[in-house]
Amino acid sequence: MSGTPVWAQLTYLFAAVCFILALKGLSSPRHARQGNLVGAVGAVVACVIVFFYADLRHIVPIVVAVAVGTIGGFVGARRVQMTQMPQLVALFNGVGGGAAALVALLELSDAHGPGVARFTLVATAFTIVVGAVSFAGSMVTFAKLQELMTSRPVLFPGLPVVFGASLLIALALAVLTVVEPGSWPAVGGGVLLAVVGLAVGLLLVLPVGGADVPIVISLLNAFTGLTVAAGGYVLGNTVLLVGGTLVGASGTFLTKLMASAMGRSVLNILFGALKGGSTLGAGEVSDRPVRSAGPEDMAILLNYASRVIVVPGYGLAVAQAQHTLRELVDLLGERGIVVDYAIHPVAGRMPGHMNVLLAEAQVPYEQLKEMEHINGEFKQADVVLVVGANDVVNPAAKTTPGAPIYGMPILNADEAKQVIFLKRSMRPGFAGIENELLYDPRTTLLFGDAKETLGKLLSAVKAL
Ligand code: NDP
Repeated sequence: MSGTPVWAQLTYLFAAVCFILALKGLSSPRHARQGNLVGAVGAVVACVIVFFYADLRHIVPIVVAVAVGTIGGFVGARRVQMTQMPQLVALFNGVGGGAAALVALLELSDAHGPGVARFTLVATAFTIVVGAVSFAGSMVTFAKLQELMTSRPVLFPGLPVVFGASLLIALALAVLTVVEPGSWPAVGGGVLLAVVGLAVGLLLVLPVGGADVPIVISLLNAFTGLTVAAGGYVLGNTVLLVGGTLVGASGTFLTKLMASAMGRSVLNILFGALKGGSTLGAGEVSDRPVRSAGPEDMAILLNYASRVIVVPGYGLAVAQAQHTLRELVDLLGERGIVVDYAIHPVAGRMPGHMNVLLAEAQVPYEQLKEMEHINGEFKQADVVLVVGANDVVNPAAKTTPGAPIYGMPILNADEAKQVIFLKRSMRPGFAGIENELLYDPRTTLLFGDAKETLGKLLSAVKAL
């Protein structure tokens, strides 16, 4: 940053502080909105400032590109459904990694030849390979979640060998770029490096099953962060260095947290399917009998309970029934019933999905109880109301070795006196396996879209 004036460096420092404060704000639902806003201000400042001090060439295409990106991002983010958020993150993340790789490719033509610091070449090669991996991997995760391709693991004979060979080729090309920069054409060599990186990204994510894809998105997000940080080093730009490092570190933590919430290792998530075990179950629907009832009977159960625990899941988000659920819980609370929401760390399809959904319906934070805090209380619960959740209460996680969710800590709904399930059918949850709790004699099912069934349940409780 030798050519950057002091005032611009101080402004970059301001942007970096904004990013750190944004992360702090995002760590709690109470301050998440402000955190997001502070981060956005930092990003705008960091993007705009360069126009005031740098000797920019091609200003028109730059402005056009910024305008296209801004409009695309704004319209995409406004239109996206809450349940499609992981895909949007995958798309934005992939574009970030791809952009960093492209910038590094251009820099390679300048940073080529004798006299260039070795570490600059290391950072450039790293940015190209990892940015390309992140781009290709993110596009596959997007296609899987958007159902543009199968969400099952894609495997072919010899995949581990091809994957290993691609990794070795990428490493060899990167070493060549650093050690013998003058021995091969700068841009052509860089493009070859990027193409091999794209292949590594594809082969890394294709074998991952749909239920694990959000974790891989988080991992690729960490990759993109590291790519951007390395790009910041190559360009001598502090704000890229700080921003990229923050994304890399937080993405790594998030990946670890999600993997341990599912009781799996990151390596098992990435390569489990290669060892023969599918990360997604078969998805069959059993025809064993279950007990179902109408909303009036369920209302009696709820109305005469003294302790109720609500377990929200992905189906609540699909039905957009969070407001009706809050009304029902408020009504039960007014009648002296103690009601809490049990929040599983991977309920829904992204970290914090249920917290965000319920915060949108103005559910007080005090009613949201994390799994480790509420799991001991299920024994005392008269009724557990499971709304659009399945895997997070599936006892197979404790009892069935070999099940895709075996080892994942679950909410102990099976310990309650009565369980009410609101779902549309007997179809399994995302892991694709049967839930024995549905067949338990203490369980009653109310079939239908959660918004509709909760509405009927609410009217029935009001009528009592
Ligand atoms: P599940 O996917 O296990 O179950 C959702 C349930 O909702 C289904 O049984 C479905 O049944 C029901 N449902 C769907 N739409 C509706 C509707 N409109 N009205 C009523 N019910 C509906 O969700 P969980 O939240 O229990 O578990 C999350 C899963 O996602 C876990 O397997 C977790 O590992 C995985 N995952 C989550 C991540 C995260 O960060 N949150 C990350 C990675 C994976 P039916 O079709 O019969 O209605």
